[in-house]
Amino acid sequence: ATPAATMVGTTIGAQHGVLFKGGDVLERAKDVDTVVFDKTGTLTRGEMELTDVVAVGELPDGGAVAERGDAATDDGSAGTGDGAATGALADEDEVLRLAASAERGSEHPLARAIVDGAEARGLELGDPADFENVPGHGVRATVEGDEVLVGNRKLLRDAGIDPSPAAETMERLESEGKTAMLVARIRAGADDGELLGVVADADTVKPSAETAVSQLRERGVDVMLITGDNERTARAVAEQVGIDPDDVRAGVLPEDKSDAVEAIQADGRRAMMVGDGVNDAPALAVAYVGTAIGSGTDVAIEAADVTLMRDDPLDVVKAIRVSDATLQKIR
Ligand code: ADP
Ligand code: MG
Repeated sequence: ATPAATMVGTTIGAQHGVLFKGGDVLERAKDVDTVVFDKTGTLTRGEMELTDVVAVGELPDGGAVAERGDAATDDGSAGTGDGAATGALADEDEVLRLAASAERGSEHPLARAIVDGAEARGLELGDPADFENVPGHGVRATVEGDEVLVGNRKLLRDAGIDPSPAAETMERLESEGKTAMLVARIRAGADDGELLGVVADADTVKPSAETAVSQLRERGVDVMLITGDNERTARAVAEQVGIDPDDVRAGVLPEDKSDAVEAIQADGRRAMMVGDGVNDAPALAVAYVGTAIGSGTDVAIEAADVTLMRDDPLDVVKAIRVSDATLQKIR
């Protein structure tokens, strides 16, 4: 494009809250054939709320904890072989209180929702010590002398705790599009941990997400979803916005997001990655066009080629349109 056309395009973009970091990206955006959306904070509002707390004793199959320990389970895990330590089971409030106490050490939106939810119920939270964030999996912290774990199935399995007694509950919550997290405890001095229950957070899809997806499709652009969240939750969200379940890449660890985008681009696709988080920065950098949500983290904005100043997925379509219109005029 001529410098004049570039200036016009950049200005029109800016008027719509679409900031192009230079003429190159303004030219590239029109050639995007695939848009890859991050889920949390990009397609969804990223404002989680605590929706469910289930204590292990109240799980549909909770009475069978000990018997189920040696069974291979439907979510691909092998049992621990000797059954979970049951002991005195925590009730719902205790599960939430321990989970929230551990999560006080985390800045993650999932963690904040758990802490806020616990405080809203008037629970007195403990102070976490030895807090450890396990990226893409959850948190571990010492609460009142015992170690408390909150996170996904892998977090528990890695600690030798069988998540399978909660399988049914996890699946039910996940099919509702919620992020379900397991809560477990390893008592001070004990070798084995115990599953305490499940907490779930829900996020809401941004109002314009579905329209953005359908407008991209109308232009012949493929739309995909990438997330660290589990497959079932990701597919439920994909369904709400009209993304094909086959185009969902779930359970992608923060450090693997850029590889996932490179894999998508391996067959010559030109992908626009749209994301908001620190997690997303490497993926934004390798994408043909990296687009950051303006309310997202500075790291994402720095790594991106385009910044959307409004929090609106429709501006993704606008970015492509502005590029298209600018370059067509001068051809
Ligand atoms: P996203 O890509 O959606 O931003 P993350 O990569 O941050 O997700 O996290 C992936 C998964 O790891 C979450 O869905 C959750 O199961 C687990 N997880 C991450 N952080 C936490 C946390 N602070 N507490 C509990 N679980 C967590
Ligand atoms: Mg995100």
